[in-house]
Formats: sequence, structure tokens, C-alpha cells
Amino acid sequence: MKDSISENLDSVMQRIAAAAERSGRSASDVRLVAVSKTRTPDEIKSAIEAGALDLGENKVQEITSKYDILRVFTENSTKNRNIKWHMIGHLQRNKVKYIADKVSLIHSVDSLRLADEISRRMDACGGTMDVLLQVNAAGEASKSGVAPGEVTRLVSDIIESCANVRIRGLMTIVPFAEDPDDVRRYFSDVRSLYDAVGREYRCERLDFRWLSMGMTHDFEVAIEEGANMVRVGTGVFGPRVYARDA
Ligand SMILES: *Cc1c(COP(=O)(O)O)cnc(C)c1O
Repeated sequence: MKDSISENLDSVMQRIAAAAERSGRSASDVRLVAVSKTRTPDEIKSAIEAGALDLGENKVQEITSKYDILRVFTENSTKNRNIKWHMIGHLQRNKVKYIADKVSLIHSVDSLRLADEISRRMDACGGTMDVLLQVNAAGEASKSGVAPGEVTRLVSDIIESCANVRIRGLMTIVPFAEDPDDVRRYFSDVRSLYDAVGREYRCERLDFRWLSMGMTHDFEVAIEEGANMVRVGTGVFGPRVYARDA
């Protein structure tokens, strides 16, 4: 198991490097978030040992249950294993409190009410949370995210009223397409939006750095269109098996 995870990771890193080069950048310009949802602590440890330091989860409960186990593991390790947790799934306001002190980046902010709650929680613990705004690029009813046309409004609302939130960029999940080339335009739309918003607002509360787009099936196209953070689960850990009661 361990070997296959580290081999998978190597091959994903190589594909990231190649796609980065095609877009005139280098491998170090693109951050990999290894999506560890549904994976056991042992599988995650293998990924950490192989060099994955950014871990993505989409459920609050999985973060809280894995957090302590892996903290003990990394603290007892002799190597530099400074892992960061990323919340990449839909986040309910009443659950923000459970992860506010555990995650380094929340990719899925799509409303002022959610940003407000995050800001209140961070104020209580005296910190600032880095967030990305999730954009529903294709207008899919089944997906969360703010419509592209509403992003600017949400940005200015958050800047105005959420003192303990720092907007670090945008995130999107595009529709599945057999041929990822068919969804390239959504990546390029979000990239244009990212550039435009990053240019328009320059302030303490907004410091664009991350464009999180691309998953196992389409991360190369996403990188070619400008992604500098990709969220890859299956490509690193193999196919997911969902527990019956999950
Ligand atoms: C599960 C998930 C991923 C990773 O999906 P893979 O296809 O396994 O790479 C990326 N982003 C989000 C938001 C996810 O929920």
C-alpha cells in the first residue's frame, strides 16, 4: 500500500511538472493538495512520508477525527512534516467552530453569512482565516459556489464586514467531462475572473495567491489554464471506496 501511494504521488508530481511547463511555469509554482477524504490514517501517513504536506478533506467530522492522530504522528517524526489541512467541501455555518483552529485554508466560502461566521470564530481565537471563494463556473444546480457574476459583490462585502477573513483566491469544481478539454473554457473563465478581481482589489483583507482548480481527472487542463493549486485524491490514493454508512 505504502509503495503504491508513493509511486502514485511521484507520477502525479511529474504530470503536474509537465503541465506547469506547458503553461510556462515550473513544478514549484503549483501546489498539490492530496485529497485524503475516506482514507485511513495509515494511508495518509504513507502519503505524508512520501512528501504530501497539504491534505484536503470535505467533511468536518473527518478533519476532527484525523487531526489528532496525524498531529501525534507528525510531532513524533524526525523529518519536517509540517502538514496543512484544507477544507475543500461544503461547510455549514454551525460546524465552523470545530475546524477554525485546525485548517489553514477553506476553499469553499460561497456566502457572506459563512464568511461572517468564520470571521467571528477567528476573532474569538485571535487569528485570521485564509479562504478561497468557490465559484460555480458552469452554473450547475447540484453544486455549491457563487455565480461568476456575483464574485465581485461577495468580495467587497467580505472585505467590508469580515475583519478576520483574508481572501486568498478562487476555487472551482467544473462538471465532469469524458474529455477534460470540453471543460477547459470553465477553467479559463475562472482564471480571467481571478486575474480581474486580484487586480481590482488590493488590500490587507484580500491577497490573491491561490487559484484552486483541477482534480484527478482534469488537473492537467486546469494547470494549463492557470491553476496553481490542484486537489487530487484518486490520483494519489487510488480509487475511493465509500463505507456503507458514510
Ligand atoms: C473529492 C474531491 C476532490 C478530489 O477528487 P479526485 O477525483 O479523487 O481527485 C477534489 N476537490 C473536491 C472539492 C473534492 O470533494
